[in-house]
Amino acid sequence: MDPAGVDRVVRRIRRIARRRGKEPLVMIDTPSDESLRNSSLQRTLRSFAKYLENILSWYGIYWEERRLYSTLCPVCGTELRLKMRTKNTRIMECPKCGFNADRDTVPLHWAIKSLSALKSEAPSL
Ligand SMILES: [Zn+2]
Repeated sequence: MDPAGVDRVVRRIRRIARRRGKEPLVMIDTPSDESLRNSSLQRTLRSFAKYLENILSWYGIYWEERRLYSTLCPVCGTELRLKMRTKNTRIMECPKCGFNADRDTVPLHWAIKSLSALKSEAPSL
């Protein structure tokens, strides 16, 4: 994404949040897998994340770096396994607690989980 594109997205986030009377929060998930460590891909991702964080800070938007997993259970942390695959979806299931969801939405469950953790950390929300 080019700098002008990032700027446009950040302004849009702010506009949407303001319309709903809410403060925006951006979660930045940069992979830190062993396989990526010290690779040029990771350096690129890191420098993009830094760039994004600077822009968000400049606009006064809260951001958090969080790992949002797609293969770990957001309820109990167990490794998810593939339950069913269709043309467009991969349904993942937790063998321990039975949590199941489309693989693409699992990171959202992690985001919601860390949001409620943030709320309970905050002194007056
Ligand atoms: Zn589980």
